[in-house]
Amino acid sequence: MINFNKHVNIGIVGAGTMGAGIALTAASAGHNTIIFDSDYSAAGKALKSIKSNLDRMISKGKIEEQKATEILGRITACESLNDFSQCGLIIEAIVEDLDIKKNLFLTLEDIVKSSCFLATNTSSLSIGAIAASSKHPERIVGLHFFNPAHILPLVEIVPSILTNNDIVSVLYDLMKEWNKTPVIAKDTPGFIVNKVARPFYGEALRIYEEGIAGFEEIDYAMKSIGGFKMGPFQLMDLIGNDVNYKVTETVFREFYFDGRYRPSITQKRYAEAGLLGRKTGKGFYDYNIADEKNGNSDFADNNLKMIFNRILVMLINEAVDTLHKGIASKEDIDLAVTKGVNYPKGLLKWADELGAAEVYSQIKALYDIYLEERYRPSPLIQQMATTSKTFYQD
Ligand code: NAD
Repeated sequence: MINFNKHVNIGIVGAGTMGAGIALTAASAGHNTIIFDSDYSAAGKALKSIKSNLDRMISKGKIEEQKATEILGRITACESLNDFSQCGLIIEAIVEDLDIKKNLFLTLEDIVKSSCFLATNTSSLSIGAIAASSKHPERIVGLHFFNPAHILPLVEIVPSILTNNDIVSVLYDLMKEWNKTPVIAKDTPGFIVNKVARPFYGEALRIYEEGIAGFEEIDYAMKSIGGFKMGPFQLMDLIGNDVNYKVTETVFREFYFDGRYRPSITQKRYAEAGLLGRKTGKGFYDYNIADEKNGNSDFADNNLKMIFNRILVMLINEAVDTLHKGIASKEDIDLAVTKGVNYPKGLLKWADELGAAEVYSQIKALYDIYLEERYRPSPLIQQMATTSKTFYQD
């Protein structure tokens, strides 16, 4: 088994948003890092963006100039995948397309050493499907970074049913050395974060669609009561309504159209209209007007509390479902939401604070009103409510 010390070369394929961030992370941890992109100019652009990120870190006093120069000196752009022959780990961050990713891994297998690990940064594709047609699927694994990859600590390590488990522990240790927070997730749609976080957006949209509250009130409820740094609509505007909608649609389809993940027509219309959020200047909010005008906070306390509770219990129910289905451990589920999407608290820890009986009764009340699959309580929260169990203190 390969020993991942700093002498191991790291290869990055795809020099877009994620590739550039991952390259900066690997080089900062001391590895010589090679970047390849089918569009060579993209690799040049990635080097420029890495340099400007390092310059920003210097100006903020987070890094010394000498260190930044060393990091940059470890990253090179190459024109051929043949230059990856001596890499110990290759991380693919190319376009989200199953056939293109499969072909890339087939090509890489003929170039790299037998000990080289091949990782994919896919957000939504099955790791098993990517690995299936390769000659050695046992060395293919998901390594899911979050954007911006050089700043957000979470990395989901996702072995497929074909992956050699030794690879998981080697990558787990390596991610710790890279100052990341690794968690291990089953190869299931959305892995941890993109599954557990769905109600943050979905339930907020539903509350809006039912006319219970506007975007600002819902955002204000989550921030003022829950301590979330951003409200759901602010976050959807930041992620982009096109991107966020597509993730929801994929998770919905991949879970065989489970009503829990049903996408919102409201968000679809925003995406179709080009109201994508910050990147187009307008989404749920208008970024062409001063922030204060977007920031009304004169709302009734009981409505705010109702909105917050409804979104929170739906999030907790999803986290409990993820644990119940064995997708990840309770610790990893809580780390995933605090380190990947900046939630103020782990959702299972939050469940303990509220009490399983209270969480269950709130979800059950929603289910009794709507009679929709979307609101079905996880069998685990029901079981815990009846036995008065907690996730952490027992
Ligand atoms: P991007 O569009 O910014 O960059 C993709 C790059 O890959 C482009 O420069 C493109 O020229 C290159 N490319 C395409 N096909 C190639 C090929 N066959 N060989 C070499 N290079 C090729 O995309 P991104 O946002 O960086 O996403 C990359 C991957 O990471 C996707 O799988 C995406 O799902 C995943 N991801 C994205 C985010 C995010 O927030 N952007 C977060 C986590 C994971």
